[in-house]
Amino acid sequence: MSSSDKYTVETITELHTWTPNLFSFKTTRDQGFRFVPGQFARLGVKGEDGSIVWRAYSIVSASYDEFLEFYSIVVPGGKFTSQLSKLKVGEQIYVERKSLGFLTTDRFELGRDLWMLSTGTGLAPFISILYDFKTWETYENLILVHSVREKEELAYEKVIRNFKKSEYFSEFSSRLHYVQAVTREEVPNTLNARITSLLENGELERAVGIAIHEDHSRIMICGNPEMVDETRELLTKRGLRVSRRGEPGHLAVENYW
Ligand code: FAD
Repeated sequence: MSSSDKYTVETITELHTWTPNLFSFKTTRDQGFRFVPGQFARLGVKGEDGSIVWRAYSIVSASYDEFLEFYSIVVPGGKFTSQLSKLKVGEQIYVERKSLGFLTTDRFELGRDLWMLSTGTGLAPFISILYDFKTWETYENLILVHSVREKEELAYEKVIRNFKKSEYFSEFSSRLHYVQAVTREEVPNTLNARITSLLENGELERAVGIAIHEDHSRIMICGNPEMVDETRELLTKRGLRVSRRGEPGHLAVENYW
């Protein structure tokens, strides 16, 4: 494999398995690859017929890290993930040179609270956003909501809790509110419903102790398209506006399929 104008060839340097269908991996990073926290890369793997299959992947790692990190589902029979999940440390992956996406905090009007609502692997961009010191300086409250079906899918829990302990972010540690929602199991200290229900019945805001309002809430939504669309609709009815190019608003969304 050799690099081209469009992509570079990177090496897998680390793999971490969370569950049989969820894993993270790190790759080398081309020195010229730049991104804004929240953006995604396009990754390529060789498919069964030898052609390259490309898919979008949110970047988990910090913009200042020397490596790139990604968090992936394994879709049974999926064209991309069935190949990706076979890769081992030392093997290669294609990364398009250009990062993409608008799930970035620079899309918003200034605000007080940053809500990051995710399902499953939709957590990925928010980890990168949390590694960004500017996020902690800008917002008084960072509310990260991770909704999964089963407890074992609560990936990155330790990384998220460690933000509070890290010397780097500790002066702001009280700003982070981490809410876990598990929909198919009763788990202590977690909410047990979907994000849309938790918003509709007010449980999410009560649990965090902060109300959502267009004056001070900026909300990012990422993951399952049904959740993303329904949540956007709910919040639009409450007066929040989706950010558009050149027109900063209160909501930024990303659908994964
Ligand atoms: P596909 O043929 O692409 O998908 C088959 C079906 O699998 C979909 O119709 C859907 O029902 C389901 N599916 C696809 N992706 C997911 C998912 N992430 N979680 C649950 N079900 C899914 N995926 C990641 O795992 N991590 C990421 O960080 C990530 N970032 C993305 C960013 C963007 C902007 C977009 C558009 C997608 C992102 N995806 C991410 C999805 C990813 O691009 C692929 O769809 C996924 O890798 C599956 O590829 P596939 O070819 O195996 O199956």
